[in-house]
Amino acid sequence: MIDSHAHLYLEEFDEDREAVIERARAAGIETIINIGIDVETSSQAIGMARGDDGFFASAGIHPQSPVADPQAALTAIRELIETNPEETVAVGEIGLDYYWDTVPPEAQSAILQPQLDLALELGLPVIFHCREAISTLLELLEARDSVPPGVFHCFEGGPLEAERGLALDFHISFAGNVTYKNAERLQQAAGTVPLDRLLLETDSPYLPPHPHRGKRNEPAYTTLTCDFLAGLMNLSPREVDEAATENTRRLFRLTE
Ligand SMILES: [Zn+2]
Repeated sequence: MIDSHAHLYLEEFDEDREAVIERARAAGIETIINIGIDVETSSQAIGMARGDDGFFASAGIHPQSPVADPQAALTAIRELIETNPEETVAVGEIGLDYYWDTVPPEAQSAILQPQLDLALELGLPVIFHCREAISTLLELLEARDSVPPGVFHCFEGGPLEAERGLALDFHISFAGNVTYKNAERLQQAAGTVPLDRLLLETDSPYLPPHPHRGKRNEPAYTTLTCDFLAGLMNLSPREVDEAATENTRRLFRLTE
């Protein structure tokens, strides 16, 4: 099983990072992709992947990461990717986030578009973060001449938005919040995603699946979301795991 989206470099894991990783291994999570949200954390994620074939990394500027000099930040992300090709498997997380307001919407699309171009140029997939902006993000993507392959991480839309994302050839990933009681629309969306487009993730330390809601999330809990999705799709957890693992390997071109 693969946790396709985690932030294990964050200080939430400083006290017991090794134990968290051990629990993940014990739960059968053989690969973890750590996702950068700015230049510094992208570099940290790459550092964790260096010399450890259980980890990969992505590099990118999150829509709510303030950047003083966008051009310099983009250049730094490009350099990180180009100098660490073995470790860096995607540009991300990138996208739109209208829930928080640290970075205004125009500045968000101004840093998103060149990162989509960068991914196309480097032949890498992208990882989308999207919060309260799914229609705008889909419109922005539909209006482009070309989009890189990629995944909507922690998908927040309903069945119609999922359909539009799938029509653009994207994958869809559900985090622990799909297991929450009030997540009916999300669960409906999950029911419409073909098995060959589904990814599993935790978004650790955020959004732990039931029954850990409100606490810190960790990669070992990927199994709980997998079990839940399997129930929703009338499949065995093993079928969901095998499909999601294969999809993740194919999308991010992970070497075994
Ligand atoms: Zn994330």
